[in-house]
Amino acid sequence: MAKTGQVSTAKVDWRAAARLRKGHVWVYRSDLLKAPPADPGSLVLLEDERGKRLGTALYSSASVIALRLISSDAVTEEKLPALVRARLEAARAYREQVVRESDAFRVVFSEADALPGLIIDRYNDVVAFQVLTQAWDRAGLRGVVLDWMADALKPRAIVERVDARIRQLEKLPPREGGVVWPNSPAAAAGAPPRTVFHMNNLAFEYVAGEGQKTGAFLDQRENYAAAERHSRGEALDVFCYQGGFALHLGRRCEHVTAVDSSRPALEAAERNEKLNAGALRVKEMEWIEANAFDLLKDYARAGKSYDTIVLDPPAFARNLKSVPRALRGYKEINLRALKMLRPGGVLVTCSCSHHVSESDFLHMLTSAAEDARRRVCLLEHRGAAPDHPSILQVPETSYLKCVVVAVSR
Ligand code: SAH
Repeated sequence: MAKTGQVSTAKVDWRAAARLRKGHVWVYRSDLLKAPPADPGSLVLLEDERGKRLGTALYSSASVIALRLISSDAVTEEKLPALVRARLEAARAYREQVVRESDAFRVVFSEADALPGLIIDRYNDVVAFQVLTQAWDRAGLRGVVLDWMADALKPRAIVERVDARIRQLEKLPPREGGVVWPNSPAAAAGAPPRTVFHMNNLAFEYVAGEGQKTGAFLDQRENYAAAERHSRGEALDVFCYQGGFALHLGRRCEHVTAVDSSRPALEAAERNEKLNAGALRVKEMEWIEANAFDLLKDYARAGKSYDTIVLDPPAFARNLKSVPRALRGYKEINLRALKMLRPGGVLVTCSCSHHVSESDFLHMLTSAAEDARRRVCLLEHRGAAPDHPSILQVPETSYLKCVVVAVSR
């Protein structure tokens, strides 16, 4: 690795060169032919073993993903802010095209928007962002992103969502999350901004800094609507969090039972139910705090049955090694759900583990159907909402699977 002007150059091995030429954007530390002397988060020019240019990447001195491609051209520090603004604008224009019936959506999705390491989500008038790599923590780049969010998205407040574990992995100094714009002591010291956002004409509360992800599972937005379309009768929503699926089901079903192990999530869900009282036709909505595995076992033993079941568990496989165990977990809950469905009943089953492929997931579901001795018909095979784009050459951007099936009558 050498420095030309202010940008270092890194030589990568043939494996990384082939990966980049095919359209992936990562260079692992083990792909580097020489340890880089670049500053954390800085720009690095990439070349193959023969010195042919591969593009420009953002460097992390800590992550196993040492470099993330930001352009297949040569980019200088002077040109970087304009490039980032152009990418941010493109990301926003794309959402204008694809987002409907919602004031809450992902504005920037990291690698999928060619801004690797940056997440920006909009919740009505509050914008939440998250930095996943050293580059976006650099004062210069952070400033470019903050100015753009304030100018282009015109929010009431911008909040930073901090994942302490990610900062630790990236060897970034600890930082408190909270309001970063407006940049006033009063805003920083005040209560976390709250707002109400809307998906498919249902309202949800948002409290900055609370809950999972940046607050909600925006990637499920269109799957909520699909689940609603297929739902009827008595419904069970397992791993319900703040009620995303359950409230949609509550517009069509007579009875909805929703289960989660997190009390704060269920409390938020109940507040969301109140917010939507006028829109729901459900006769009874129950929120149950329980371990989903135990509850499914107990309900199955007790002979309970449902017309509609949703399963949306947390990622069971965090790495490749845990895939077999994750598949056993998925199979256990899917098998119980399939057994509990009444004739003609519908199962909406999800997995957000990137490491569990679509075919693994369908295979698991087929095997569950066999064991349940039910004839199962595939109704829909879905992914994340289009504001979480999937780039074919970057398979890590496709992670969410949502399969809708019906058991025969
Ligand atoms: N369906 C939700 C998202 C679910 S996220 C939505 O669309 O908004 C996964 C949820 O599973 C989290 O709320 C978490 O609290 C819950 N969870 C994790 N492990 C659990 C367990 N063993 N039993 C019940 N809930 C669990």
